[in-house]
Amino acid sequence: MNQKIRVRFAPSPTGPLHIGGVRTALFNYLFAKKHNGDFVLRIEDTDQNRYVEGAEEYIIEALNWCGIPFDEGPGKEGSVGPYRQSERKHLYKNYALELIDKGHAYYAFDTPEKLDFHRKDHEAKGKTFIYNWHNRLKLNNSLTLSEDEVKDKIDAGQDFVIRFKSPQDETLILNDLIRGEIKIDTNILDDKILFKSDGMPTYHLANIVDDHLMQISHVIRGEEWLPSLALHQLLYNAFGWNAPQFAHLPLIMKPVGKGKLSKRDGEKGGFPVFPLSWNESQGYREAGYFPEAVVNFLALLGWNPGTEQEIFNLNDLVEAFSLDRVNKSGARFDPEKTKWYNHQYLQKTNDVELAELFQKQFATKLGPDNSQLDKTLIEKVVSLIKERANFVSDFWGLSSYFFEAPSSFNEKMVRKQWKEGTPALMQSVASIFDNCDDFSSARVEQQVKNWITEQELSFGKVMGPLRLIIVGDMKGPHLFDILELIGKKESLARIETAITSLSN
Ligand code: GLU
Repeated sequence: MNQKIRVRFAPSPTGPLHIGGVRTALFNYLFAKKHNGDFVLRIEDTDQNRYVEGAEEYIIEALNWCGIPFDEGPGKEGSVGPYRQSERKHLYKNYALELIDKGHAYYAFDTPEKLDFHRKDHEAKGKTFIYNWHNRLKLNNSLTLSEDEVKDKIDAGQDFVIRFKSPQDETLILNDLIRGEIKIDTNILDDKILFKSDGMPTYHLANIVDDHLMQISHVIRGEEWLPSLALHQLLYNAFGWNAPQFAHLPLIMKPVGKGKLSKRDGEKGGFPVFPLSWNESQGYREAGYFPEAVVNFLALLGWNPGTEQEIFNLNDLVEAFSLDRVNKSGARFDPEKTKWYNHQYLQKTNDVELAELFQKQFATKLGPDNSQLDKTLIEKVVSLIKERANFVSDFWGLSSYFFEAPSSFNEKMVRKQWKEGTPALMQSVASIFDNCDDFSSARVEQQVKNWITEQELSFGKVMGPLRLIIVGDMKGPHLFDILELIGKKESLARIETAITSLSN
């Protein structure tokens, strides 16, 4: 390929970006980087009625958080900007007029009331009204009016639209890099509106003009745009431009049932569908996901590497990605798998970094970052418990007993573990502890085990209640590691307290 690879992500700022949109951006990014190409962000904001304040900033922040930055876009001007369609408004009208000149488009003056009348009239007869070859010669447009009549209406300030004149009786052969060849009978297409008298182009016109002017080589977008492909191809043909290549990505499907993953699915299932929080909807960032985990699970929604490999960092993805391995069928979203991914990335993050995140998130419990609390203690705790955690937010629940004595004991476990002879056994354990000058895990373990063997006791009878005393429950990592970290004094104090409170 000698043409430079240039792709674009072209969201409309009508609200927060759904993770499906992030996946589209990611696939564009991966494809661009794989081929040393450019990744462009274009904001498609021609529909001012649907414009939502803050949505553009949200999109940019989400891409940055995911670590998939664009090369050109708003705030990163390249040679084909501006990158907001509202700032390119002046460009589109001439292209619409060019199509009229070439006989591929026409002015239409039909009022909304008139169109509504035709729609209802057709419905009553069990038919569907489509504005196209079928009836355009019976409607109020420049195909039926004289040139003077048209001019008069425009001069008089009458509202108009410019419609594409879709061809009759043709078979279009479209090509999609994921779906292969698609045949379309042009008779089913309607004459879509390209431009309105308020001076604004519609999505279709602006999108094609900009992809052309921005020298886009590949259009990679969601499957919901597949029905527009025929019109887009016809527009390229009408202008006499080479069309980019197209790839329509499969939908992201609900965890159960049929259909596209929606905001409601997230609300029902208690999982995010947005990268960042938006109003009351929690985002992946705020739910405690690592961006690397999000990127990794998104990459495997609709694409597969052809191997069993599941863990990919961004560089691995760039290396492995190809459109050939993008599936045609929808990709089912699995919220449990997203947690699994975060778990994997949490295990890969080093303890120093995790300890910092832990301390930041639980500053009220662990003290602020600059507190005296021993940083190495927190790091050691993290190393002992992280394999049980999916998120940093799980850390406190898994480790509070390292930092403070249990405030209560699991009652069911007390009934099971705390027997008549237990207080005496725990007293003996306390004196062993007292005699240990070296309170390291290995040393204490050796001493306790020697004593158990000498006394011909059962391990369970000693270790069970001891864990209950130290942890408050029968959970947690290797008990002697816990003892070493909380230290001799605290271990003795906990035994003391428990003997008093549990023996009553
Ligand atoms: N503005 C469209 C959207 O909101 C862009 C579709 C396309 O990529 O052509 O998704």
